[in-house]
Amino acid sequence: MSRVSEQKSTPAQAGFRGPDGPLLQDILRCVHCGLCLSHCPTYVELGLETESPRGRLYLIRAVSQGRIPISATVVRHLDLCLQCRNCQAVCPSGVRYGQIMEEARADILRDGRHAPASWLASRLVLRTFFSNPRRIRYLMTALGLYQRSGLQSLLRRSALLNLLPDPWRNLEQLVPRVSTRPFTARGIVGSPADNPPRFRVALLSGCLMPYVFAHVHEATVRLLVRYGCQVVVPPEQVCCGALHLHSGDRQEAKRLARRNIDVFLAEEVDAIIANVAGCGTAMKEYGELLKDDLQYAEKANRFSALVRDVHEFLADLPLADGLGPLHQVVTYQDPCHLLHAQGIKSQPRALLQAIPGLELVEMSEPDRCCGSGGIYNIIHPRMADRLLRWKMRDVMATGAQVIATANAGCALQLEAGLRRYGLSGRVAHVVELLDEAYRAGEQSA
Ligand code: SF4
Ligand code: SF4
Repeated sequence: MSRVSEQKSTPAQAGFRGPDGPLLQDILRCVHCGLCLSHCPTYVELGLETESPRGRLYLIRAVSQGRIPISATVVRHLDLCLQCRNCQAVCPSGVRYGQIMEEARADILRDGRHAPASWLASRLVLRTFFSNPRRIRYLMTALGLYQRSGLQSLLRRSALLNLLPDPWRNLEQLVPRVSTRPFTARGIVGSPADNPPRFRVALLSGCLMPYVFAHVHEATVRLLVRYGCQVVVPPEQVCCGALHLHSGDRQEAKRLARRNIDVFLAEEVDAIIANVAGCGTAMKEYGELLKDDLQYAEKANRFSALVRDVHEFLADLPLADGLGPLHQVVTYQDPCHLLHAQGIKSQPRALLQAIPGLELVEMSEPDRCCGSGGIYNIIHPRMADRLLRWKMRDVMATGAQVIATANAGCALQLEAGLRRYGLSGRVAHVVELLDEAYRAGEQSA
């Protein structure tokens, strides 16, 4: 297999040059049928071919064949892609769009032809903080102090925020509430009390989740234990690298993947559980990410084969006894990386529908991206806001009090939507609702 960079015959200005650039044979699978267009959120919003999967693939192909350089305009069109993979899910030719886009971005970033906001995101924020568990802990502690000291409310009431550049102002608005009790448990964090465990599973703790969604991890552990699992949280694990991959930093994502592979495989578990759609996708694709790494290719495939999204893992098991009623109207937002990247659609719904009293009302387009896209909503606030406005209208039409989802980024974006449009209700992870129902069952027993 040859890389595009080996096939270009034009001046050095054009073409993908790095080892992570996309393969021409992958790009050429697109037959320009256009079936993906109406499924692409940016195309639906803007109606421009250059903001569609077909248009972006055409640009990538033209760059790879040396017909056009990687200009600021090309980068802008590629950057506006959410990487939601809706196009990939519907493509009859099997174009691996997500992979191609990640590789194109990696090459652009590596060669310094990226947009400044992408550099800022990938190098300054992601590498400095997300890659390093100690630094993210310091950052989250400082953020918690900023929020609880009243400084945040003071700043939000003042006009000072308006002086910040767009991405920073947006970041401040989207910044999540830090939990007062982070999920810091490590080692064996749960085991069935009465019977020997049926499975031993490892939970990805992740970078932000322990600080912002500690309650989701706690609910996940309780559920897994109810379903007969011993749950271990490997202490030396690091961020899964999903956000790095999204922003084109494949080198750093590979470094993180190698570390996680060593740490998790050493635990000798039956499954590696992810409760965040983006993290699960990244880890299921470690095999692909490290396929050229002689030392890690086989281990990466072994690791990826063990990764299970928590919903697919639980839905495969007989329903545990003891569910109590939750009398709530719930609508479910499909996270793009759960539905389009992992093909998981029925399992979260089946778990919700198993809860007595819970009424699941579908949106007209639950599979349409909410605009979160990792850190997309920080870098591209205007497009993210357009998508969020559309999504909140769809949510409102259901009359639901609860928006259930299964991805940290979607949850934060939807919570921002509730605040922005002054809506009541709440956003909850599917496992939170299931855990609430079991606890309601215990109380009524
Ligand atoms: S990406 Fe797939 S669906 Fe879209 S135009 Fe190309 S072949 Fe058709
Ligand atoms: S990944 Fe999503 S935003 Fe990007 S081209 Fe495909 S459908 Fe459009």
